[in-house]
Amino acid sequence: MNAIGERLLQALGTDAVRTEPEDLAVYAFDAYSEDRLPSAAVLPNSVREVTQTVRIATECGEPIVPRGAGTGLCGGAVPTRGGVVVSFARMNRILELDVPNRRARVQPGLINLDLSRATASEGLFYAPDPSSQKISMLGGNVGTNAGGPHCLSYGTTVNHVLGLEFVDSDGEVVHVAQDEAGYDLTGLLVGSEGTLGIVTAIDVRLMRLPEAVRVCVAVFGDVESASEAVSQIIGAGIVPIALEIMDKVITGAVEAAFHAGYPQEAGAVLLVEIAGLQEDMDAGEAALATIARKCGAISWRAAKSQAERDLLWAARKGAAGAVGRIAPNYYIQDCTVPRTKLPQAIHQVAAVARAHGLEVGNVFHAGDGNLHPLIMFDRREKRQVQAVIDAGSEILEACIALGGTISGEHGIGYEKRETLSRIFSADDLATMARVRDAIDPARRFNPDKIFPSGASCGEVRRVPA
Ligand SMILES: Cc1cc2nc3c(=O)[nH]c(=O)nc-3n(C[C@H](O)[C@H](O)[C@H](O)COP(=O)(O)OP(=O)(O)OC[C@H]3O[C@@H](n4cnc5c(N)ncnc54)[C@H](O)[C@@H]3O)c2cc1C
Repeated sequence: MNAIGERLLQALGTDAVRTEPEDLAVYAFDAYSEDRLPSAAVLPNSVREVTQTVRIATECGEPIVPRGAGTGLCGGAVPTRGGVVVSFARMNRILELDVPNRRARVQPGLINLDLSRATASEGLFYAPDPSSQKISMLGGNVGTNAGGPHCLSYGTTVNHVLGLEFVDSDGEVVHVAQDEAGYDLTGLLVGSEGTLGIVTAIDVRLMRLPEAVRVCVAVFGDVESASEAVSQIIGAGIVPIALEIMDKVITGAVEAAFHAGYPQEAGAVLLVEIAGLQEDMDAGEAALATIARKCGAISWRAAKSQAERDLLWAARKGAAGAVGRIAPNYYIQDCTVPRTKLPQAIHQVAAVARAHGLEVGNVFHAGDGNLHPLIMFDRREKRQVQAVIDAGSEILEACIALGGTISGEHGIGYEKRETLSRIFSADDLATMARVRDAIDPARRFNPDKIFPSGASCGEVRRVPA
């Protein structure tokens, strides 16, 4: 057994530590395609066990990789240099529920949806809802600053985290809160992908469940006209709770899996949710339907019951899984463009896929201009794998050229770290590296993530004092 495995076992015992390759295999990968076995994995039950782990890893000179549910799509939780993975599967409790102040303190291993389920009886919910919310954990959501369909109106994770407790590189417990004077260190930690510290508790904002909710489906002949409707809706000053588009490929897959009532012959469907006072619902829906029809909607309907609304959302959020019916593997790209450029971006995604002989489906947070082309392939075909990698980066280039950026919500992780230098100058990256070095000077937390590697980025890897 390696030295760090022995030290961790001595300190924390066999229940909390894994050192055997067959046990470590599950911590080697996330939902991206990279994998590497760690030297050890720790399943802490307490903050104290996290601080002990960090101190031992530091003494042994090993990297530390925090891990939630491993649903990240860019290799963020992959221990690319080995070291210790700290998995939060056991620290999954709501520590405090403060109903009058609409806030909760939770452990990082709490599953996103479990928080809304637990607070529903109080008329409250936690707004950021990644499509992975049935399985992804709040610590991971903080790590990636997760978004979701309802973040169009409510904002992403960073807008709902009020404070954090984290363990720093010295193994000390640090508390930060958004309402403190001075720098917003809470905001800095959110989206830092485990590179600044290990989050051990999260104070979140809870929202009041709306009095009324309406979910509508508009059917279009093509994705371009559905995208135009999204642009026009926001341009008219209306911000619904959610504006999601699925193209024909995705609608076919989700319909086969969920039977939610999405028309399979449609070129595209636009899923719209509005919420608020009951008396505002009819007028709100009418305004949206008018714009949709002007942009070419073939039909418009509102779900009639909570069960129907839930099914429409379950199908939308289950889109990636449903694609398993069409292809053995898929790769989800994540990039954004200004909303008005959505039709052009979709056009270019199709052109890139065609040029590589690949099938692509589009399911995306249209209101945010956040594209998720889902490229289908068979991992056993080496040539297809290369084609997918090439197509993925060409799509990113196309989005950058349209004034967009390389990630809307999934983060940079391992996958996109080299691409970061496409949108930031060496000076920008060096400044970011200085921030990281101020907090984790040894760069022990989650190495190889976010920052580009290689000789050309030496100035990022070691910024002169
Ligand atoms: C089918 C599917 C649908 C998805 N839909 C969405 C979506 O709609 N919106 C969206 O934003 N994402 C989506 N994702 C991506 C993914 O679910 C999110 O990035 C999610 O936030 C990851 O959470 P996790 O618990 O799985 O974290 P992991 O993948 O385990 O980790 C993610 C990152 O956070 C870091 N981290 C984890 N825990 C901690 C901690 N305690 N302290 C510090 N850092 C930590 C990790 O080191 C890593 O860098 C989807 C993924 C899948 C597979």
